[in-house]
Amino acid sequence: MKFCSNCGSQVTQRIPEGDSRPRYICDDCNIVHYQNPNIIAGCLPVWGDKVLLCRRAIEPRYGFWTLPAGFMENGETVAEGAARETWEEAEADVRELTLYTVFNIPYINQVYMLHRAHLVDGKFGIGVESLECQLFDEADIPWDELAFPSVKRTLRYYFEDRQRGEFPLHIDDLRPPVKS
Ligand SMILES: [Zn+2]
Repeated sequence: MKFCSNCGSQVTQRIPEGDSRPRYICDDCNIVHYQNPNIIAGCLPVWGDKVLLCRRAIEPRYGFWTLPAGFMENGETVAEGAARETWEEAEADVRELTLYTVFNIPYINQVYMLHRAHLVDGKFGIGVESLECQLFDEADIPWDELAFPSVKRTLRYYFEDRQRGEFPLHIDDLRPPVKS
């Protein structure tokens, strides 16, 4: 951040009195611009034995498969955000959302909250942020072409849990990928 969104003056980074971390503070109007993690709300839409994936038409990870998910908006619940994103990315109507995986990703300041959901009538289209959308059997999941670790883990959990017939909430902390 370089300029104040309140008055347009320059901001500098310093620790406000009584605080413990550097913040962007306006040199002019003295507003403190707090930056906090973003919540990414999404779904694992299920239809019979199949799950719905979307192939990304946007960066990052263009062309890779993902679960419909995106940044939560002001004024909505996490489940509402998850259902909205599923509609936007896959033109799919989902019901009976149950929070299923939570991923803390502190190194990119994100928290994923993905829900198991029933795909209404098995119907879907292709949202503007997707190249294609498709229902997959477990055997056909493109494991090497998944966009994000959160997506891969959620699918792994799902197929394991499905064998047991129990779907507990999974909460994981994700660490940066190790560069070789
Ligand atoms: Zn200002």
